[in-house]
Amino acid sequence: MSDHFDVIVIGAGPAGYVAAIRAAQLGLKTACIDERLGKDGKPAPGGACLNVGCIPSKALLDSSKHYHHVQHQYAAHGINVSGPVSMDVDTMLARKDKIVKQLTGGVKQLLKTNQVEFFCGRGKLLPERQVLITDADNQQQQLSGEHIILASGSIPIAIPNVEYDGQYIVDNEGALEFAQVPQRLGVIGAGVIGLELGSVWKRLGSEVILLEALDELLAAADQDIAKTAGREFKKQGMNIRLSTLVQGAQVINGEVIVKLETKDGEESITVDRLLVAVGRRANTTDLLADDTGVSINQRGQIEVDEHCRTSAENIWAIGDAVRGPMLAHKGSEEGIAVAETIAGQAGHVNLETVPWVIYTDPEIAWVGKTEQELQQAGVAYNSGSFPFAATGRGLAMGDASGMVKLLADAETDRLLGAHIIGPNASELIAECVVTMEFAGCAEDLARIVHAHPTLSEAVHEAALNADKRAIHRAN
Ligand code: FAD
Ligand code: NAD
Repeated sequence: MSDHFDVIVIGAGPAGYVAAIRAAQLGLKTACIDERLGKDGKPAPGGACLNVGCIPSKALLDSSKHYHHVQHQYAAHGINVSGPVSMDVDTMLARKDKIVKQLTGGVKQLLKTNQVEFFCGRGKLLPERQVLITDADNQQQQLSGEHIILASGSIPIAIPNVEYDGQYIVDNEGALEFAQVPQRLGVIGAGVIGLELGSVWKRLGSEVILLEALDELLAAADQDIAKTAGREFKKQGMNIRLSTLVQGAQVINGEVIVKLETKDGEESITVDRLLVAVGRRANTTDLLADDTGVSINQRGQIEVDEHCRTSAENIWAIGDAVRGPMLAHKGSEEGIAVAETIAGQAGHVNLETVPWVIYTDPEIAWVGKTEQELQQAGVAYNSGSFPFAATGRGLAMGDASGMVKLLADAETDRLLGAHIIGPNASELIAECVVTMEFAGCAEDLARIVHAHPTLSEAVHEAALNADKRAIHRAN
């Protein structure tokens, strides 16, 4: 087979493998390269998302949620679980691994079915759109491409004086693999990973301490939602310490001593395991030879324009390796847009309507602008909100914390932002994304028939409340 391709994709995460499949669907001869091996030593395309991110974390969130519900929520339904309830961590981890294997195997199969040629190894871009692949046995081969798509993803940020050792001081990968429930789990960073993985181990019995440098929790979220989240997490017993800077950590006699700087001065805490979750950075390590013409910006990301074109001709970059939110669905949509643009079609991703979801309990989801952003930009807006506690479905489910909050332009009524904390927020946000993509208004949401009894009635009522005519609450 010839080693010249129409499209070569480096990285088979949700950005890269989706780009490769779409390119192949459009009739382009496509190669996809990824170096990741699974626990069985076999190629495991799917990137951080399938292997050590979105999917395994959601598997553990679900297992730990069941465990927590059996202990704390079933009694209210009249279900008596007699005898002690226990968690077999090995079974929980094996279930997670099985899901990961099923999905990475599924990606391999999808690449094959779509006639994408898959290469397992490390890809390096050379000048003239040549790509050098080095496999695990150090065997090398070279491909050439009309177009190259860089989709090398991201890796965890490390902080000074806190060295990962894979056992006591870990990143997300390690925190998905604890063989036993740590008695005390310290987490540096109360961001998305800290809150999700902190929730997993808290539900299983860990004492969880989140150490957050900023003065506010979830600074990027709407602050009404962030404050509600803070209260809920506190009720669950999560110890979130804001304005706390970690200066260093050391493992001594099987314990981790963490040195902190707080507003009250310096102090130390002792934990059994320490998760570092202070953000991720673009992974461009050894990806580019000299003279490829691809620029890297000051943040270490591959520099791209709004169509994901790099500074070098016919070289594109997508996903976590470029600007914009580090989310799987954002990378996948960029992959589709780039493949379609290469094939001569129109491809486009609207970064203004990328939804965020945090899979804690309650779930948190948002799209568009926060109230703080609108205030800072001087945009006049109407706000409508509705609590799940006033929905029949939420009460029937026994899961009625949180609310929906919508922000609409005061003049045009166009929906500018939607913020949800509560049950199934991850699913409910979708109708708000659609409304925003179609340039819809709060009035559109208010006039659409929503099934009863559903949680989506909270979205409907929040839209009515934006015009001060909600039915099931005082306006
Ligand atoms: P990656 O998924 O990082 O994939 C890049 C791939 O490229 C990797 O497989 C890597 O091995 C390979 N690679 C890199 N360089 C080379 C090279 N030179 N040669 C060959 N191969 C190479 N996002 C969500 O949207 N929802 C979630 O619920 C969610 N949960 C997450 C939970 C955790 C714990 C973490 C860490 C992340 C989570 N994310 C979530 C973020 C999500 O995983 C990323 O946004 C997404 O994986 C980015 O996709 P990508 O394809 O750009 O990069
Ligand atoms: P994050 O940016 O969400 O949170 C990092 C937190 O660490 C921030 O609150 C930051 O203020 C804090 N911080 C930074 N340096 C610190 C320090 N020295 N001491 C104490 N706190 C410090 O990053 P993350 O949680 O590592 O996640 C990385 C990215 O992965 C996310 O931004 C997101 O893009 C993606 N992700 C998404 C999901 C999801 O979609 N559900 C889940 C997990 C991860």
